[in-house]
Formats: sequence, structure tokens, C-alpha cells
Amino acid sequence: MAAKVYTIASGKGGTGKSTTTVNLGTSLALLGRKTVVIDADIGMANLGLLLGLERSPITLHEVLSGKAEVSEAVYEGPAGVKVVPCGISLQGFQNSDPEKLQEVMRTLSDEMDFMLFDAPAGISKDGVIPLAIADQVLLVVNPELSSMADALKTKILTEMLGGEVGGAILNRAGMERTEINKQKVSDLLGVKVLEMIPEDPNVRRSAAFKTPIVIKTPNSPAAIAFQRLAAQLAGTEFVEPADESRAGEGFAGRLARVLFGGK
Ligand code: ADP
Ligand code: MG
Repeated sequence: MAAKVYTIASGKGGTGKSTTTVNLGTSLALLGRKTVVIDADIGMANLGLLLGLERSPITLHEVLSGKAEVSEAVYEGPAGVKVVPCGISLQGFQNSDPEKLQEVMRTLSDEMDFMLFDAPAGISKDGVIPLAIADQVLLVVNPELSSMADALKTKILTEMLGGEVGGAILNRAGMERTEINKQKVSDLLGVKVLEMIPEDPNVRRSAAFKTPIVIKTPNSPAAIAFQRLAAQLAGTEFVEPADESRAGEGFAGRLARVLFGGK
């Protein structure tokens, strides 16, 4: 069976694409879905860094420059999620042919249930190909106008390329008037907001530990939101953690939960 392929994109940099890719991918693996995350941000790669795989000798750079087979660039990540990291050298970027991504996709597709591409910001060739080859593009937006304008541009570009936008993920949602924000995002972009991920200091903390937040602090507000999104994509029900397991979440976490929903 072919994998369901998602590209996590945004237009703007720093909206949380890599964080989303890592945590969505790990959450899908935790649900028992065979999942591979691929760092298609071949100029500014950091998926490896977020997962402690930054020293991987063979990466997507070697694959896209014809020096290695895809299978040689697949590593084991947390909860069994497969990871194709990318190198960080400028030379590696320059030698890479982004057109080869489609081949990478075809090679891995048969063995997987889900494939997630972490897309670069911008609309250069390396950014455009992941938009075109995915079954669905998911737009990671922040509740700011510049982020939404760039996401809208990315949506239009995706459709021009014959691709499809499956929805938006509103990341770093603040505490105030969130429902209005969600509605605004959906009106502005003309797509469904699949999930809101709250601003959560545990995201940075877990990045410093090179561990996805859904593993490091699975009951923190952002981790719960990522797991809820994964359950939605996997078509299963997400069981909210019991209150006792949230004992350590603190005031901000409780407040976010009350505002963002969940039990
Ligand atoms: P991108 O891949 O789109 O450039 P990243 O995933 O690298 O974005 O995230 C950019 C920065 O924002 C990182 O420092 C990350 O830790 C932080 N960040 C992302 N999402 C959240 C969140 N929900 N709460 C707090 N910080 C976040
Ligand atoms: Mg990134």
C-alpha cells in the first residue's frame, strides 16, 4: 500500500514546520503507524538536530546528488519513526537535485503508512517540489498577518502546481481570543484549521534535549495538541490524558487547556 504523503509547509520561516514534522511523525509512530519524516529543507536542514541525528554520515544530500541510495539515509528515530535527515553543508545543498525527491518518495512509499516532508520556507525550486509531490500540503501558520499572507501565497502556489492543501495548523496560538483567530485563519486561507498548537515553553526545552516534545513531556499542552492532530490524520480517537497525569503541567498549562479545549 502506498503511504499517505504530507508536506509541512508555510511560506514564512520559523513558523514551526520542523517542530510539527518531528512531533506529528513521532505521534503517528506512537499510534503504531509506519511513518517516515524527511528533511526536505535541504538548504537549512535541522530535523537531524531536533532528533539527535546531526552526525549522520549519509543524508538526503548524498541521495539527491546521486552518491547514495535512499535506504542508506534512513535512520531510526524515537518511537520507531524513520528519519531521513539532511546535511548542513553548502556544498551538499549545491550538489543536490531537488527533482530527485519524487524518486525518494516512490522508493519509500510502499513500506510506509505516512510520509512527512519538512519543507523549506520560500518559493525556490527546492521549496516548490515538496508542494507538488505531496498528497496534501499542511500549512503551519502563526497568528500574525505576515505568516498568513505567506501561507496564502503558498496555498495558491500549491494549487497552481496541481497540488492540494489539506488544511492549516495554527501554531504558537496565544491565550487571547483564540476562537476568533481560528476562524480568521480559516476565512483568510480558505482552508480548515486542523489543530491549534499553543505556545508552550516545553517545545524549546525538548528541542534542547534533541527529543520530540511528545516523548519528553507528552502531557504538556503542545504535546497533547500534536497527538490530537496525529490521531485525526490516522483516523483514530485521541484519548485525552487523565487529570492526575497532568499534575506537573503548572498554571500556564492548565490555563492553555481551559482556553484551547480538551478535558
Ligand atoms: P520552522 O521549521 O518553520 O523554521 P521551527 O520548527 O524550527 O520552525 O520553530 C521555530 C522556533 O520556534 C524554534 O525555536 C521552536 O522551538 C519554536 N517553536 C515552534 N513552535 C512552538 C510552540 N508551539 N511554542 C513555543 N515555541 C515554539
Ligand atoms: Mg525548519
